[in-house]
This record gives sequence, structure tokens and C-alpha cells, in this order.
Amino acid sequence: MSEKFQAVVIGGGPGGYVCAIRLAQLGIKTACIESRGSLGGTCLNIGCIPSKSLLNLSEEFQKVKTLSNKGIDIGEVKLNLPKMMKSKDKAVTILTKGVEFLLKKNKVTYFKGMGSFKSKNEVLIKDENNKATIINADKIVIATGSVPVSLPGINFDEKIIVSSTGALKLEQVPKKMVVVGGGYIGLEMGSVWSRLGAEVHVVEFLDHITPGMDKEISTEFMKILKKQGIHFHMQHKVETIKKNNSGAVVSTKDKDGINKDFECDIVLISVGRKANTNGLNLEKIGVELDKKNRIKTKKNFQTNLNNIYAIGDVIEGPMLAHKAEDEGIAVAENIVGQSGHVNYDTIPGVIYTTPEVASIGQTEEQLKEKNIKYKIGKFSFMANSRAKAIDDTEGFVKILADEKSDKVLGAHLIGAHAGELIAEIGIAMEFGASSEDIARTCHAHPTFSEAVKEAALSVDKRAIHS
Ligand code: FAD
Ligand code: NAD
Repeated sequence: MSEKFQAVVIGGGPGGYVCAIRLAQLGIKTACIESRGSLGGTCLNIGCIPSKSLLNLSEEFQKVKTLSNKGIDIGEVKLNLPKMMKSKDKAVTILTKGVEFLLKKNKVTYFKGMGSFKSKNEVLIKDENNKATIINADKIVIATGSVPVSLPGINFDEKIIVSSTGALKLEQVPKKMVVVGGGYIGLEMGSVWSRLGAEVHVVEFLDHITPGMDKEISTEFMKILKKQGIHFHMQHKVETIKKNNSGAVVSTKDKDGINKDFECDIVLISVGRKANTNGLNLEKIGVELDKKNRIKTKKNFQTNLNNIYAIGDVIEGPMLAHKAEDEGIAVAENIVGQSGHVNYDTIPGVIYTTPEVASIGQTEEQLKEKNIKYKIGKFSFMANSRAKAIDDTEGFVKILADEKSDKVLGAHLIGAHAGELIAEIGIAMEFGASSEDIARTCHAHPTFSEAVKEAALSVDKRAIHS
């Protein structure tokens, strides 16, 4: 007899493990299946956490080299890359073990192995020794995440032609690194290796980086990254990547048809990720996919089979850990008959470069396209006293509010702590706040958050400090 659960979650990433914990909190007998041998998914193992660790460590390395300009003299600063990588790995281990503890604490049964559908209520789990276990479940949530995509005909070897996974564990600082794609991964990982000493060239298909971001912010972002020494080659299409004795040659063609080759020791391909439905045996039970091979779901995350649900990167929407987590909670609540939902209009996006870039709600381009009349408030960190005091003045806050009602429609920030500051706007937007509501809220002095208040004041053309 196979063991029976009320709910089984396939995938132990931020979508899956959060969903399993919430189901258990709601009194459901739950199991979570994860194939990689450690919990936390892409995010904790090969994504958000190791990348943020390396971003922080490389920023510290960079900062310490300039401290003498501020009256702090130290000796020669040297990089110890193996030790830095160990520090990153330690952060990953602590957090993934932490998730295992949380599953145990919440009495979620954790199966280590690859899950696949035997029928619509049965999941076959194969562990690393190929030992098979079958479990039975009333409800099944698919949270199998995403994997990197490459360019046609080019395979990752994770040594010379790397995805983010290889870029997070290079054994040496490359002399020259070509980054294909100027999106989240390319700019975060490009920043890491540039700070550690690599000459970084970003080859981007479009005429701007970070597609979908407010154009004004994206333009400023590229300007700042160029100043930091990153080279950009816009409107370049990669034709081939050929490995040679010392690395690889990336051959490109620009918009005017001119060919250009880039010799380098490492190529990072960061042109997006795709939903991961590999090995689930979805065809057998008839779960429908959309045109992009993502699992098709209704508003309540149910697939076309009424006991099977899907969340996170494997379905439509931004591929972000907090989106996956929120969907995990919402689907668990829906399964027990509550009304879980996710507000897709207020999902923040943050790029953890220096400075950080953060965004929520609609961009100016989207508002124009929808013919929505809006007002803009802007405030530069150059005029913020805390930023001045610590000499960290790059960037600005931009708030977009409805022309008539003054309701906040979006906010876009570039600057120190932007990733933290965006949470204030998120709460304001969830409460349907106007820019005046933010402007009339007392903000501590001296803080970076005063720039948000001033930007809100500036919507009504009454900023005080500019
Ligand atoms: P995943 O985290 O991908 O988890 C799915 C899990 O399911 C995996 O562990 C996989 O092994 C497992 N699995 C797959 N198939 C099976 C199966 N058949 N049986 C059992 N287990 C299976 N997002 C942010 O919000 N902030 C960031 O700073 C950020 N940084 C990132 C940096 C990098 C380099 C990358 C690659 C991604 C980053 N992301 C970031 C995106 C984030 O990692 C994903 O959006 C998030 O992990 C998606 O969560 P998920 O639970 O849907 O899927
Ligand atoms: P992305 O979608 O962010 O960026 C891909 C970039 O590659 C785009 O600028 C696109 O125009 C460009 N591109 C596409 N095809 C190309 C080609 N053939 N030649 C040159 N350029 C090309 O994808 P990503 O950077 O791979 O990241 C994947 C996803 O992971 C992100 O969309 C995001 O959801 C998630 N992520 C989030 C964070 C974060 O939240 N801080 C960090 C890393 C990754």
C-alpha cells in the first residue's frame, strides 16, 4: 500500500517549500518532494542567495580598495577567491539546512528524489539510488521551477560557456568575460566579476538593457554601469560561440550587419530561463501547457485537472522568488477552501547591483501605451542628506501617480538601498494610497527613505530639498 497524503508538493524551491509549510499550518497532511538533494530550489542553491552573497563580497572588496580616499588607510588589499567562494557556500548551506528544519518543525514529510506522475493521484519518487517509492495524494501542487536557456546550438559546459550556475563558481577571475544578455543575471553576475577584476563585455540584442524596466531608469542604470567599467555592445546578435585553446570566440553581427568577434576566457549566457516540466510525465495524465511550455493555470492556480495545481517559475508571470512564495501561500489557502490570491500589480523587482535598482507597478511606457494620464515626482539622492553624509549619492526616486486621483501607479528607484525602499511603496499601493499619503507620512531623518517622501512631494511640485 502506498503512503497517503492529503497534499503533495513536487519541488522544494521558494514556491514549493513555502506552499508545503502553509498547507501543514492549515492542518493538511503534506509531503514535499525535491530532487536536487537540498531544499530551497534555484533560489537558495544556485540563484538569489549565492548571487547576493557574491554581490556583497565583491562590493566589499571594491569598497575597501577606496577607503583610503576617506581617511582609512589599510595595507594592500588582495583577493582570496577560494575563501570568498567558501563564504558564499556557507551562506547557502545554512539557509538550505534551515528550510529542512522548517519542514520538520511543521511536520511536512520530505522525500529526496525525482517525482513523476504515475496517475493523477499517484506520484512515483525515484531517489539517487534509483529506489522507487509511490505516494498517493488528494491534491498535488507542481512547483518544479525553471532552468536556464541557451542560444540555438550552443550547450553550457559550465566551465567556459556558462549559465548563472557556472558563473557562481568560477575558480579564477576571468581576464575577459563576455556576457550575452543585459538582464537581471547578466548585470548582477557581470558586476561581480567586473569588481573582482575581469574585463566584462555585455552583448545585448536590444537597444537598451533590462527590458520591461522604466526606460529612464534603465538609461541611467547603463550610464552608471559603464562608469564602473562594464562595456556594452547594444543591438548585437550572437551568431556563433566557438571554443578554442584559451577560452572562446563570440561572433556577433550588429544592426548594420557588421560582424565583430569577441575573444574571451568565459562566456556567460544569460538570455532568460524556461519553465521546467522535465520528467514529470505530464503527457500521461494530460496536464495542459501554454505556448511557452509553461503549465497553464486558472486564477486559483488549478490546472485543467481539478486536483492538480501549479505555481512559481513553472507557470506564467515574472520568474521571481517572492512571486513563487506568494503563489505557494495562495494555492495552499485555495486548497483548503479559503480565497488565496496574489496581486500581480504590486510585485516588486530588484536588481542587486551597486546601486540597486527597484521597480513596482507600471512604468511610464506602460501608462502611455494604456493612455492613462499621470503625474511624475522625482527626487535625486544627490539632495538627500544621508546619501550626502556617507557619499553615496547616485540615482533617484521616481513616483508615478494618476493625474486626477493622485493614486500611486508605480515607482522606480535607482540608488543605495532601493531594494529595501521599494517595500514602502508596495504597502502604499496595496492600501490604494495617493502620493500625498506618502508625502504626509513622517519619515525619519536622516534616511534614504526621505528621498521617497520628497519624490512624493514632488508629484505635487512641492519638494522641499530640491
Ligand atoms: P525553483 O526555485 O526553481 O525550485 C524548483 C525545485 O524543484 C528545484 O529545486 C528542482 O530541483 C525541483 N524539481 C524540479 N523537478 C522536480 C521533480 N520532478 N521532482 C522533484 N523535484 C523537482 N529571484 C528573486 O526574487 N530575487 C533574486 O535576487 C533572484 N536572483 C536570482 C539569481 C539567479 C542566478 C537565478 C538563476 C535566479 C534568481 N532569481 C531571483 C529567480 C528565483 O531563483 C526563482 O524565481 C525562484 O527560485 C522560483 O522558485 P520556484 O519554487 O518556482 O522554483
Ligand atoms: P532576463 O530576461 O532578465 O534578461 C535576458 C536579456 O537577454 C534581455 O535583455 C534580452 O533582451 C537579452 N537577450 C535575449 N536573447 C538574446 C540574444 N540572442 N542575444 C543577446 N541578448 C539577448 O534573463 P536572465 O538575466 O537570464 O534572468 C532570468 C530570470 O531570472 C530573470 O528574468 C528574473 O526573473 C530572474 N532573476 C532575478 C533576479 C533578481 O530578482 N535580482 C536575479 C537574477 C535572475
